[in-house]
Amino acid sequence: MRFFLKKFYKIFLDAVFPSRCIVCGIFFTCDNERHSFGIEKTDLITLSFKNVMEGFLCSSCMQNYVEVKSPKCSVCGFMFRSREGKDHICGTCIKKPAKFEKARAYGLYDGALRKTIHCLKYYQKPYLAEPLGLLLFSEFIRNWDPKKVHVIIPVPLHNGRMKKRGFNQSFQLVRKWPEWSNKMGFDYIIDNIDPDILRRKKRTKSQVGMGKEERVKNMRGVFEVAYPLKIEGKKVLLIDDVLTTGATVNECAGLLAKKGAQSVDVLTLAHTERHLIGR
Ligand SMILES: [Zn+2]
Ligand SMILES: [Zn+2]
Repeated sequence: MRFFLKKFYKIFLDAVFPSRCIVCGIFFTCDNERHSFGIEKTDLITLSFKNVMEGFLCSSCMQNYVEVKSPKCSVCGFMFRSREGKDHICGTCIKKPAKFEKARAYGLYDGALRKTIHCLKYYQKPYLAEPLGLLLFSEFIRNWDPKKVHVIIPVPLHNGRMKKRGFNQSFQLVRKWPEWSNKMGFDYIIDNIDPDILRRKKRTKSQVGMGKEERVKNMRGVFEVAYPLKIEGKKVLLIDDVLTTGATVNECAGLLAKKGAQSVDVLTLAHTERHLIGR
């Protein structure tokens, strides 16, 4: 198993010329040994951003990544500013209950993680979906029992944007999960990823710079469920790259629940920092 994963990592790191920083473009020396970590099922739990990304980023671009840690909101998953105490529900989720049951994110949308997500989405580096997808997979395993997730749905892009970008980053992030769950010796093989159930019927304006209310309005009526039978009575996990106000996943979750899903959870690579909550 270790051999396979080492080999797999070597192949894709070599293929993308890993000694050139994806963010600033400088060449940097990296000790190959550092990338030769083997990933077993148990290693997933402690997998860190540095473990996975050090072949892609120079040391100066590798700064300031923050992994989401407790205490965080037990519903929306946003970290509390205070680093003491247990997870509990935040004021925002009490005031306005979300339409999903729980959301979790791998890290804060800041520093190196933010730069890497930008490179993936806006600078045409779809190969980054593989290492980022592995981090997302580790977060999935930390927070869910795969047997109890019936359908995994990546948040879709509108056809126009899909054509322009050439790929849907949310789908690319989970594409390798079935292979990994198989190779890592999971007793349950993930084979329930379905990018076709949910569709985006309207093209929306870019949400960058929009406030919460504007985002909610912008997302209203944007999605449709193409195959409601596939989600009836099922526990659904929605996948997206970044959770900002939650307007997008909340709209999807509300629609999926209306169409018969038993529950909807959300997993994203990152959530924004300005939503650090409390003191
Ligand atoms: Zn750099
Ligand atoms: Zn919350």
